[in-house]
Amino acid sequence: MTTYVAQVIFLLLLAVAGWLLARRIRFIKAAIGLGKPEQRTDHPAARWRNMLLVAFGQRKMFKKPIPALLHLFVYVGFLLINIEVLEIIIDGLAGTHRIFAPYLGHAYTWLLNFFELLAVLVMAACVIFLIRRNIIKVPRFHKPEMRHWPYLDANLILIFEILLVLAILNMNAADQLLQARGVAHYTPTGKLLFSSFFMPPLQGLSTPVLVAMERFFWWFHIAGILAFAVYVTYSKHLHIFMAFPNTWYADLQPKGKMSNMEVVTNEVKMMLGLQPTQEAAPPPEEIGRFGAKDVTDLSWKSLMDAFTCTECGRCTAECPANLTGKKLSPRKIMMDTRDRAEELARLQLTGNGTDDPHTLLDNFISREELHACTTCNACVEACPVLINPLRIILDLRRYLVMEESSAPAEWNAMFQNIETSFNPWKFAPTDRFKWADEMKSNN
Ligand code: SF4
Ligand code: SF4
Repeated sequence: MTTYVAQVIFLLLLAVAGWLLARRIRFIKAAIGLGKPEQRTDHPAARWRNMLLVAFGQRKMFKKPIPALLHLFVYVGFLLINIEVLEIIIDGLAGTHRIFAPYLGHAYTWLLNFFELLAVLVMAACVIFLIRRNIIKVPRFHKPEMRHWPYLDANLILIFEILLVLAILNMNAADQLLQARGVAHYTPTGKLLFSSFFMPPLQGLSTPVLVAMERFFWWFHIAGILAFAVYVTYSKHLHIFMAFPNTWYADLQPKGKMSNMEVVTNEVKMMLGLQPTQEAAPPPEEIGRFGAKDVTDLSWKSLMDAFTCTECGRCTAECPANLTGKKLSPRKIMMDTRDRAEELARLQLTGNGTDDPHTLLDNFISREELHACTTCNACVEACPVLINPLRIILDLRRYLVMEESSAPAEWNAMFQNIETSFNPWKFAPTDRFKWADEMKSNN
């Protein structure tokens, strides 16, 4: 292949990948945009801090140090190896080979050795992750919602990363042999420690075969990275990018503080003869639906949460409802929300969104799952990227109770007690503190 033909093919490859990526990003933006508006730009300093500590610094991952360390290798490898990709892209477009080498001198050798070390660590981490998923079978990776595509997706990406790393090491091994034979175009890089282990089996190959090998691995590596970039947007690995905005926009309220509907709070306050919290309540037509029946009733942030979910299952592993055999899994809540947002966005883009009979409630998430939640917040606490599955559960449950008056009989009894006696147990309000009076008189 002449250099010009290779440059044109490279440019085409970049253009196709860029177009596919831009199309998919537009789609994800449209899907998140289905949600209701919500202001999330207050306290910018706290938001930047969250992003730096949780997304960049991986702080919450270190609750489990060994998986956290392995994850860190993959993450740092992903971030830093991109510097090498920059050189590959310039080389591909300009028809050069290792364009940074003459400018960086010895530093180039150090850099390449560092990248090779990272590549080996990434490969080791991916192999261990595959073993944990497929041989040790860590329970949180084998819940019912992880069957079929989610299971395949998790394995595919690990295998893909191993293949990319092997391509780098084999490419560098062939390159070093070609440098040693003085083949033109192969700029000296200095000794590369890890790829040297791949050299012995290649020693006996002729120079044209070695050149073909080096080129094959070079193309495989860059085409693989571009394919990876597009694939990631269809996969749970989207969190590589989404973790950053998601932690920036995360809820800054204390965990467990539930968002009240101001209109309802005012109604109750007026009923009790207390002062309403706002001057004028919005007219009823602006109140809309109480709670959420579909993704369009959720906040855009809940939809962003769904697209950020890594499907790690840490939330489900901590969920008391799931641990006691109930149908609820907070991870499934996030996966269902994402699936429904994608389904609706696809329908709307093709102009078929209006006669869609599906809703998030019932078609994706069942009432049984919603009723099982104890609102303990364990899932929110466990999530390494500050996702809040409880908020979606509460919004759906609010719809069931307030729009459909559909709640289990025990809950209805409790609601009635609160309404009539201001407490869940049906004590007369005056009897509520009898126990304290009795204690006083006993002393
Ligand atoms: S808040 Fe609900 S979903 Fe989350 S851990 Fe507790 S019971 Fe499970
Ligand atoms: S919600 Fe968070 S903890 Fe749960 S699976 Fe998704 S990323 Fe993991």
